[in-house]
Amino acid sequence: MLDPSLRAGVMAVLSQLRDDGLAILLVTHDLATAAQTADRIAVMYAGRIVEEGSAASVVRTPRHPYTAALLAALPTLEHKIEAPVGGEPPNPRQYPPGCRFHVRCPLRLARCAVDVPVLEGADHRAACHLADFQPRDLERAVARARAVAGA
Ligand code: SF4
Repeated sequence: MLDPSLRAGVMAVLSQLRDDGLAILLVTHDLATAAQTADRIAVMYAGRIVEEGSAASVVRTPRHPYTAALLAALPTLEHKIEAPVGGEPPNPRQYPPGCRFHVRCPLRLARCAVDVPVLEGADHRAACHLADFQPRDLERAVARARAVAGA
C-alpha cells in the first residue's frame, strides 16, 4: 500500500537482503509484487493455504481456481479491472464446511461443500478436488455464469 516510488525502494532493499542470504516472509495482497520478488508463493484463502509452489510455477500454471481468479483480476493496460468470481470472502467466525471457497467457486462439485480438500502435489501443491484444474475451465465457467446473469 506504499506509493510506487517508495515501494520500489523498499522492494530493492528486500531483494538485496535476500541476495545476501536472508530468508524473508512477505505477506501481501499484491500477487504481481509477489511474482516479481518471491522464490516461492503460498496463496491463502479464508485462513488456509490453497496453493503453494515456486513463484514461476504458481503464476504460469495455477492449480487452484482462487489463484487463477487472482491472476485474472490483475490490471493490464488492455483490460479494465474486473472481478472474475463474484461474492464476498466468508465470515471468519463461521467458515463454510468443505472447501471454504466453494460458495464462490464457479467450478464447484457436489463434494466441495462437504469434503475439505488437502494440499496435494510434489513441488507445486494445491488443495482442490479438481485434480486436473485448468485456468481456461474457470474462464469458461465465469463466462457461462455471466451469460446466465445477463451481465
Ligand atoms: S475444491 Fe471445489 S470448490 Fe474448492 S476450489 Fe476446488 S473445485 Fe472449487
